[in-house]
Amino acid sequence: MSKKNTKYIFVTGGVTSSLGKGIVSASLGLLLKSRGFNVTIQKLDPYINIDPGTLNPYEHGECYVTEDGAETDLDLGHYERYLDAPTSQNNNVTTGKIYQTVIEKERKGDFLGKTVQVIPHITNEIKRRIKILSKQNYDIIITEIGGTVGDIESLPYIETVRQLKWELGEKNSMVIHLTLLPYLASSGELKTKPSQHSVRQLMESGIMADVLVCRTEHKIPKDQRAKLAQFCNVPLENVIECKDMETIYEVPMYLQKQNFDDVVLKELDLKSEKDADLKDWKSFLKKFQNPKKTVEIALVGKYVSLQDSYISIAEAFKHAGADLETEVKVRWVYSGDVTEENIKDTLKGVNGILVAPGFGDRGIEGKVLTAKYARENKIPMLGICLGMQIMTIEFARNVLGHTKANSMEFDTATPDPVISIMEEQKNVIDKGGTMRLGAWKCALKNGSRLNEIYGSKNISERHRHRYEFNNDYLQEFEKNGFLATGTNPETGLVEALELPGHPFYVGVQYHPEYKSTVATPHPLFRAFIKACETSK
Ligand code: GLN
Repeated sequence: MSKKNTKYIFVTGGVTSSLGKGIVSASLGLLLKSRGFNVTIQKLDPYINIDPGTLNPYEHGECYVTEDGAETDLDLGHYERYLDAPTSQNNNVTTGKIYQTVIEKERKGDFLGKTVQVIPHITNEIKRRIKILSKQNYDIIITEIGGTVGDIESLPYIETVRQLKWELGEKNSMVIHLTLLPYLASSGELKTKPSQHSVRQLMESGIMADVLVCRTEHKIPKDQRAKLAQFCNVPLENVIECKDMETIYEVPMYLQKQNFDDVVLKELDLKSEKDADLKDWKSFLKKFQNPKKTVEIALVGKYVSLQDSYISIAEAFKHAGADLETEVKVRWVYSGDVTEENIKDTLKGVNGILVAPGFGDRGIEGKVLTAKYARENKIPMLGICLGMQIMTIEFARNVLGHTKANSMEFDTATPDPVISIMEEQKNVIDKGGTMRLGAWKCALKNGSRLNEIYGSKNISERHRHRYEFNNDYLQEFEKNGFLATGTNPETGLVEALELPGHPFYVGVQYHPEYKSTVATPHPLFRAFIKACETSK
């Protein structure tokens, strides 16, 4: 295997959090990929959790699951959606993981009696985690450092960047610093001072930013750009404007217009014969921004007050919607508020319903009512993970007459545990990283709706659950028309249920949303939206 000279790009953030480092990193990744480079993007998170798997979605938004079963930061979803390439365990590292590894080594005596310290032991481990990706033969690794420069928690990462920049030598690495230019309405001005300060803060840590990307609500006037370049020690063309856009999918083009990719390639001494070809991306965007039809889909879940909790689902709607030239409007419905009395009004006029994934018993009965409403009123419905389990409970109660049917997650004493805990989960005590995670095979029944949708019999989808359809009830379900059309070929675990005769009533134990990208919209979302288009 040829050993490539991998180049490293570090993306830091200043002034405030939530500036969109993830989107800028993903956009840059896309531009560099389109210039012919093999790129991956990694996120380093400064918090102490081992991964975001145990975090409440309100804390950090959705937990994104990779093919190899890592529970990761939602930015990895952006990386995959932009690059159309899978990420892995190695693409998301937290301070918790770093310390865990170092402490385990210490316990084994690997440090031979040395005092274990942040420098060099923690920084070496961070370095190892960054460099590990180069074994996969990437030309360029983009590493996004979570948090904001100056945070106590980020210090070891920033120090590692300083060391690496020096070790790797000129032109082998670079730092892109993302800042905010606040707009003062009273004086009608964009202010550069906070950016100057955050660049200075980076310098105090021994790092010179090579490129400044400035988040701004307004165009940056020429003189302000010059001022930024001068105060931050970068060439004028290395000051890149990142104006607020209507959609995150416009960002790559906006950056490309300012030759962002050329600036980066020059800093890394890389040459490309290819111009960035964003033809397909542009055609997606055109369709996305000029839809011919509209559907409204109710997303029924319990974390709806923070829409980032369902970001992969919302983006999957956009990808598949654009493909069909259909705008998908989402009506966010908090399942805890849904009652028998208000359900008609709550769901009035929607063309489809998606019952979302989730954990715990809050809002469950509202979801069961929703599934009943969709089944009886022939409204297209897609249930994802917990959503499929809800469809199972509803069918058992209202069609099979097991009025107390439930999932063992919510009622361990139910006489009809139609959703039961998976055998291998029974003795699991630790909550973190112990669910059935990542990609598993699923065999689709010949002639089923899903078989037609996927155009294949054998598929693989990503998972994140502890409970499963209880196969003791399978015959009874199938006899009454709710068919298990997708199963795990080795274990028989039910992966998908569908109700023939209904316009679209499909529940899946897996999470199709994790695999939807701009370049490859997901067939299940596409089919669901198509069914919504024809529903009244
Ligand atoms: N709580 C359910 C389970 O663990 C569903 C999980 C989910 O929706 N991701 O099986």
